[in-house]
Order: sequence, then C-alpha cells, then structure tokens
Amino acid sequence: MASIPSPIHPESLRAVNKIAELSGQNVHECMQCGTCSAVCPMVSSMGFTTRQGIHYLQFGQVEPVLQARIGEFCASCHTCVVRCPRGIDVPRVFEAVRQLVLRTNTDLVTLGDIPKDTLAEAPQIAFVSTFRKLTS
Ligand code: SF4
Ligand code: SF4
Repeated sequence: MASIPSPIHPESLRAVNKIAELSGQNVHECMQCGTCSAVCPMVSSMGFTTRQGIHYLQFGQVEPVLQARIGEFCASCHTCVVRCPRGIDVPRVFEAVRQLVLRTNTDLVTLGDIPKDTLAEAPQIAFVSTFRKLTS
C-alpha cells in the first residue's frame, strides 16, 4: 500500500525541529488563545501576529515565519512570557528563528540602507545593538 505523502516539506520540518532544540520550547503546548498577540508591543511591525507565528510552527511551516521577520522585530520585552497561560517563552522561540536566518549568512540590515538623517541623529548605542542583533 502506498504511503500517504506528508504535507510538511522535510526541510521545513528540520528547521522547526531546530527551532525547538535551540529554544527549548514546545510550541505544541500553545492553545492559540492569542494573549501573546494582544499584549505584544511590536505586533503591528511583524508580518503577522505572535499567535499566528506559533501556529505556523505547530504545523511545521517555517518559511512564513522566517519571512514575517518575527525574530527581527521581537523586542524581547517578555510581556507575552508573563501572560502566556501555557508558560511558553515566545521570545525564545523567535530568537531561535532569528538564529536560523543569521546562520544562512543573511544580514537583516546594511549600513547603506540607513537614511543619512538617521545616521546623523540616532545614538551610537542604537547602531551597536542593531548590528549585533541583525547581522551575521
Ligand atoms: S517578547 Fe517579543 S513577542 Fe513577546 S510581547 Fe515582547 S516583543 Fe512581543
Ligand atoms: S499566549 Fe501562549 S498559549 Fe496563548 S497563543 Fe500565545 S503562546 Fe499560545
């Protein structure tokens, strides 16, 4: 009898497993209550809500999560961590997503993309933090 093909691409499944390994979090414990999305100060900057990001990972879909730049925009404020009824450390999951992106030698920001006005006015520590977080 022919086996039923898995809807999850093996590469995607590998990436989701790597995120679980790096973060130490089990996204399958998430009950999709949406509390993390409601309290997240960065949710309007992300490609979709934090709850949706976890939902994609539950289904083994990593590509949309990588493209939504969730790891880039999460401010690690931990508001969602203290509110999550299932005790999921969401920023740890998103940090693992960011690590996966950087491991592909992808820089998420380049100096040339920063407007000259911003370069002149922003504090140096902002650039240090930005390049630490967003370049490989
Ligand atoms: S830790 Fe990240 S995902 Fe959680 S509320 Fe803060 S910015 Fe949003
Ligand atoms: S608050 Fe926790 S349980 Fe609720 S959607 Fe977010 S991660 Fe899932």
